[in-house]
Amino acid sequence: MLEVENLTVAYGGIVAARGVSLRVPRGQIVALIGSNGAGKTTLLNAICGAVRTRAGDIRFDGQSLVGQPAHRVARRGVLLVPEGRQILAPLSVRENLELGRLAARGRADAREQSVGEIYRLFPRLEERTNQPAGSLSGGEQQMLAIGRALMGRPEILLLDEPSLGLAPKLAASVFAALQTLNQNGLTILLVEQNARRALELATHGYVMERGEIVDAGPCEQLRHDPRVVVHYLGGELARPSDRGGSEYVSHPGGTH
Ligand code: ATP
Repeated sequence: MLEVENLTVAYGGIVAARGVSLRVPRGQIVALIGSNGAGKTTLLNAICGAVRTRAGDIRFDGQSLVGQPAHRVARRGVLLVPEGRQILAPLSVRENLELGRLAARGRADAREQSVGEIYRLFPRLEERTNQPAGSLSGGEQQMLAIGRALMGRPEILLLDEPSLGLAPKLAASVFAALQTLNQNGLTILLVEQNARRALELATHGYVMERGEIVDAGPCEQLRHDPRVVVHYLGGELARPSDRGGSEYVSHPGGTH
């Protein structure tokens, strides 16, 4: 279980995350949605040790990760698939995957991940095993980035905008892969600009705005929350009805 408690992160004078608390129980997918600049990437980077925290705590299975360097956090099985993927373009698909194994090095509990298992999940990668990673399409690069993280035997996978820039069909196959991984027991914290898909896939969700968590709950509930509908699902608030309270109409396909 990952627990973030009252976390504050600042870049000089800019406070990018303020008093953020969230929990990702083992075996679940938790979604974090929010508009540009809300602080989502900052939060993921703080969890995986890439940026320093100013206050608060981050615990994984009860042990604090605060102050740990990124490679130690990765060895605990907390692995990030960064936005923009950051694969090594000149290396082949297979070499990129093999490099992912480094994160599991020194973890006695981690069974060695075979490249074959990644290819079963993403057959497109197997077809391109010797191709330079930089020549892959955006969606294939995203699959490779996820595959590389899986090679490090994550206990929890943090994903930053995995569908960004992908055509709907490729995005769907990335989401389907995440669902399969979760069904096989992987815990996932998903940051996603496609709020609709994220809230369908996850069981719990958090909404972040201007560095703070402003809404949280089961996704079923968030999908009907007026703030989420209007800001993230492309719905509109209708005039208050005679019965009082606000009503809204939701348009499919809208994202923020
Ligand atoms: P997006 O969806 O656009 O990626 P985000 O929710 O991931 O946004 P962050 O990237 O975490 O948001 O940025 C949060 C705030 O922190 C923004 O105001 C951003 O400009 C600022 N910020 C992020 N990284 C740095 C940095 N290295 N130095 C200074 N400010 C930064």
